Amino acid sequence: MINAYAAFEAKGPLKPFQYDPGELNAFDIEIDVDHCGICHSDVSMLDNDWGRAKYPMVAGHEIIGRVSQVGSHVSHLAIGDVVGLGWHSGYCESCRMCMGGDHNLCSTAKGTIVGRHGGFADKVRAQAVSAVKIPAGVNPATAGPLLCGGITVYNPLVQFNISPQSKVAVIGVGGLGHMAVMFLKAWGCEVTAFSSNVSKTDELLGMGAHHVLNSKDPDALKKAAGSFDLILSTVNVKLDWNAYIGTLAPKGRLHFLGAVLEPLDIGVFGLMGQQRSISSSPVGSPRVIADMLKFAALHNIQPIVETYSFDQINEAVDKVRNGSPRFRVVLSR
Ligand code: NAP
Ligand code: ZN
Repeated sequence: MINAYAAFEAKGPLKPFQYDPGELNAFDIEIDVDHCGICHSDVSMLDNDWGRAKYPMVAGHEIIGRVSQVGSHVSHLAIGDVVGLGWHSGYCESCRMCMGGDHNLCSTAKGTIVGRHGGFADKVRAQAVSAVKIPAGVNPATAGPLLCGGITVYNPLVQFNISPQSKVAVIGVGGLGHMAVMFLKAWGCEVTAFSSNVSKTDELLGMGAHHVLNSKDPDALKKAAGSFDLILSTVNVKLDWNAYIGTLAPKGRLHFLGAVLEPLDIGVFGLMGQQRSISSSPVGSPRVIADMLKFAALHNIQPIVETYSFDQINEAVDKVRNGSPRFRVVLSR
């Protein structure tokens, strides 16, 4: 049996919950969970903000643990390996996207907490190909957030060939945003953090931001007109997107990572004249996750976390629900 914490209704408290995972599939592994980050997507799923929830629900998709069982067809992982598991826990491995290495774009990729149970538990199962070994130099106690939030902000740097000469802005500096600032600094970019919370300014400068601006100040946006080659938006609320498009340089891109539910109200002329783009992407493939972990080890990038024990899970989830962590909450055993 797997001992987990489940929600039984939207916004309801998490309570102990046991389930029988059955026989281990030949291509799967079982992981003893040591640490699990709490992403805002966990809260959105638990609260059914996206209308995709099924209860009881075991959330948790920033998992670090040790492999405790391997299926008979698994050859690249062994019992005892320290691995990470993120938003995806399986792929078809045969579609055009998987065959091209873009597993995160597989239309039948399984979400770790979508219709199956995730990492708020003592164990979790996954298709072995979706788990990534944690390399030497990466601290398992703080690495969980890299497996979802980290890869989500790192992947666009790879997909769009962002160069060290690029000027990049990050909107919203919570879990995703603070990892974006650290990755961009190490990537060599000129980094601007847009935050609605001025009390974060010193911490953001310490993380490597060259400039910190108020994300809700129209004058700050006007002054930054024509500046950025890339903007990563990590907020899940509607902001003045046309004003942000005005801050893009020619050929610049506003890239949405935060799951904002209101439709975008974007004027095409703000894009057309300067060949600007808008786009969005989900997490990253296992290959890019592995590369990101090596990059994090090389540049000593560690998420800044507040640690809770698993039995403090309701307090920990509320902290993320209220938007106040500095900067990511992690459950640890
Ligand atoms: P988070 O830690 O709560 O951070 C979100 C940040 O947005 C906050 O820290 C805050 O930053 C800013 N913000 C929140 N409310 C705001 C408001 N009313 N006005 C202005 N700014 C506001 O959340 P997260 O875990 O980083 O996740 C961010 C979003 O990304 C969520 O929607 C999540 O579901 C999504 N997500 C997407 C992917 C993907 O694959 N694309 C993967 C993971 C998560 P400041 O205090 O600095 O303003
Ligand atoms: Zn996530």
